[in-house]
Amino acid sequence: MGRYIGPVCRLCRREDEKLYLKGERCFTDKCAFNNRPTLPGQRGKFGQPIRRRKAKDYGIRLREKQKMRTIYGLMEKQFKNYFQKALRMKGQTGENFLQLLERRLDNIVYRLGFAPSRRAARQLVRHGHFLVNDKRVNVPGYLLKPGDVVRVREKSKQLEVIHEMLKKRGRVRELPWLQLDKAHLEGRLLSIPSREEIPTTVNEHLVVEFYSR
Ligand code: SF4
Repeated sequence: MGRYIGPVCRLCRREDEKLYLKGERCFTDKCAFNNRPTLPGQRGKFGQPIRRRKAKDYGIRLREKQKMRTIYGLMEKQFKNYFQKALRMKGQTGENFLQLLERRLDNIVYRLGFAPSRRAARQLVRHGHFLVNDKRVNVPGYLLKPGDVVRVREKSKQLEVIHEMLKKRGRVRELPWLQLDKAHLEGRLLSIPSREEIPTTVNEHLVVEFYSR
């Protein structure tokens, strides 16, 4: 599956919101969103601030969809597949959609605080540093079920990035649906989070409307 490999800070500037795609750097004064609050590209060059733009209904939904896709770091086709899966599930499509994305292994690794960003988590998973229920899994989109345990592989326990992140865990929000065992470098998905338990600024209803048009 492909992935976006261009500059990521421009994605925050495009969405007019800090999306925290770069981990630690997002909390420093190097954050491009704080330093250059203009649109990326030519229009931004002339200082056009993002906030003055007026989007029509379609534009608002499109931007919300792009924002949600950017946050989870997925390409359009893969992202839309999640939507279609959510549509076939019982319950509210928007909530199902978010729940599916939150259950991805790269997201869980990030939420547990083993990686500074979802991008970094994805790379760590790809490199095979994690076990799920004692089996090595290197697929970032692997969907976890309640009760599943994610563990740092024995050989990878010395990885500096993981220890650094755990030291800085103050920045990571504790979530009622995830349990972290810092001593053993493992975490458990306790339950599928409800909408209120998912910390995100995304308005998933707009995204559902975008795909349902
Ligand atoms: Fe976005 Fe982080 Fe870049 Fe700031 S540093 S613009 S929050 S990705």
